[in-house]
Amino acid sequence: MLRQEDLHECCGVFGVYAPGEDVARLTYFALFALQHRGQESAGIATTDGKGIQLHADMGLVSHVFNEDSLSKLSGDIAIGHNRYSTRGSSRVYNTQPLLVGTGSNSIAIAHNGNIINAEHLYEELSDQGYIFHTTTDTEVIADLILSSPEKSWIDKIRYAMHRLQGAYSLVFMTNDTLFGVRDPFGVRPLCLGAIDTGWVIASESCALDHIGANFIREIEPGEIVSINENGVNSYREEVSRKALCIFEYIYFARPDSVINGRLLYSARLAMGEGLAEEHPVAADLVMGVPDSATAAGIGYSHRSNIPVGEGLLKNRYMGRTFIEPDQRIRDLGVKLKFNPLPQLLEGKRLVVVDDSIVRGTTTPKVVKLLKKAGAKEVHMRICAPPIRYPCFFGVDMATRWELIAAQKTVPEVRDFIGADSLGHLSIDGLIKAVALPGEIFCTACFTGDYPIPVQLEMDKLALETMSQRGLLA
Ligand code: SF4
Repeated sequence: MLRQEDLHECCGVFGVYAPGEDVARLTYFALFALQHRGQESAGIATTDGKGIQLHADMGLVSHVFNEDSLSKLSGDIAIGHNRYSTRGSSRVYNTQPLLVGTGSNSIAIAHNGNIINAEHLYEELSDQGYIFHTTTDTEVIADLILSSPEKSWIDKIRYAMHRLQGAYSLVFMTNDTLFGVRDPFGVRPLCLGAIDTGWVIASESCALDHIGANFIREIEPGEIVSINENGVNSYREEVSRKALCIFEYIYFARPDSVINGRLLYSARLAMGEGLAEEHPVAADLVMGVPDSATAAGIGYSHRSNIPVGEGLLKNRYMGRTFIEPDQRIRDLGVKLKFNPLPQLLEGKRLVVVDDSIVRGTTTPKVVKLLKKAGAKEVHMRICAPPIRYPCFFGVDMATRWELIAAQKTVPEVRDFIGADSLGHLSIDGLIKAVALPGEIFCTACFTGDYPIPVQLEMDKLALETMSQRGLLA
């Protein structure tokens, strides 16, 4: 659904090693395919073996680059980045890729994730004399790599990996080598592909499809991949527990991407089927909130035999914009994004399938919009279980106290959003829909079981108190 005030992925990354190719243009098209992962800024860095050129700015990929800027980015290696900020403000100096270091000890780096111990590492590196030019944890990662006493780049990266806590899928390059790095939990996705003349690394496989690259494999949790004139080499760190973000399957990744061998469209279809099994209801029409819940809506229809249709049309060209709307325009809320079809909705009992409810600021507006357009009943069905804990791994959700499911029971949320009924897919139902072993996933925002200890003691205490008072469903 509309997530500008709710749920944000933090970034998309891409890298290519392909001597003789127009690597900047390949990266440009790959960033287009990854635009859904971040819309605040975009950037591309290339190297011709002698130095690194960079072009990055605020805005969408289509705004940031033109023929002139692309033609100045020459070389055999490129990396690119789309950003949504979770740490570090939305400012031009925080755009990525970042250039860090000097001479042969310089790198360009792009990051998807969130480093939990960044503050501590920042202070440690500052004490060593490192001067920071941005407020991002990506610069902390880069300086940590450069500060390593080790000689080889692989050992420098290993040194950094042993110190970093949190989520990071990285692409970075030196003058002659492209690296892909995935944290030992594998929280954010990263995959390897091939083109005729070289290799690519991307957050999602949909970026490979658009540039004619073949999917080779996932980059594994704890893996470092280096690509240069010696080919592709892989180095693995020990992994104690995998924790891929299950929200990639619910909402973040594109439905045409494949992660761990599972097409996201099929997973979302199965989520809708699971919702129909767990929360059946008598209704006339099923609709998925476009675009993220379209497949789940179809799945609900398949399993329930209730016809599926489009009751809301989405204004597809309303991306994140840097023209701040004034209050009057902001008050239009979901009307800016969705237009209902009263002719289809009049007198109907609707099942409305959506991906998630986070703060609960958008869903009441959608329910109101549909009822105003003539719907007789609105039954909300949600692919994500209730979100009761914040994310510390790169998803800008909300604080605990802003999460509606941490404050209200399911029936209370139903009343708050103005729906006739509300049903969430269970965690077991979600895992069944994804059709992969449950133990490879992070589900912490539903369960509070974080793969890494986080500062949540106060929150846990508060939740126990709420539970004792019968506030949690
Ligand atoms: S806490 Fe939730 S959103 Fe964050 S990584 Fe885990 S599953 Fe994903």
